[in-house]
Amino acid sequence: MSQSPSWSEYSARRIAEAGLRRSIPRRRVIDLLAERDCAVTALEIDAELDGVGRATVYRAIEQLEDLGLVRKVDLGASAHGYEKVEPSGHHHHHIVCDDCGKVEPFEDEALEEAIHHIRRKGFSLESHEVTLHGHCAECR
Ligand SMILES: [Zn+2]
Ligand SMILES: [Zn+2]
Repeated sequence: MSQSPSWSEYSARRIAEAGLRRSIPRRRVIDLLAERDCAVTALEIDAELDGVGRATVYRAIEQLEDLGLVRKVDLGASAHGYEKVEPSGHHHHHIVCDDCGKVEPFEDEALEEAIHHIRRKGFSLESHEVTLHGHCAECR
């Protein structure tokens, strides 16, 4: 059985294939996202990567998003974050508290099956995003 590559390895390969030059700031953004299991905002990434510079951080995120390595996640209250896109397709969705902004990731097999059974108007499904909005236990 061949082990599937880690997201970092996969990203490095995709970046090389896209003909982009190696960049240390981009590498640092990748390393940070690789460690996180859920969405991080661009501001958080910028704050953690001291000395990189906001414009460079944002540019790196944009490149990773363009390559399909990172996805934008709706975090409610017009905020959004970014998280890695696993090459295996394994992923989760989010429940957002619209009062305090707390984000809980969740996985639901029945939901995935229902989504994949939807075939309408001749569309093939490429991707999907599900964000549930509500109020967390503390805010309720
Ligand atoms: Zn997440
Ligand atoms: Zn899903």
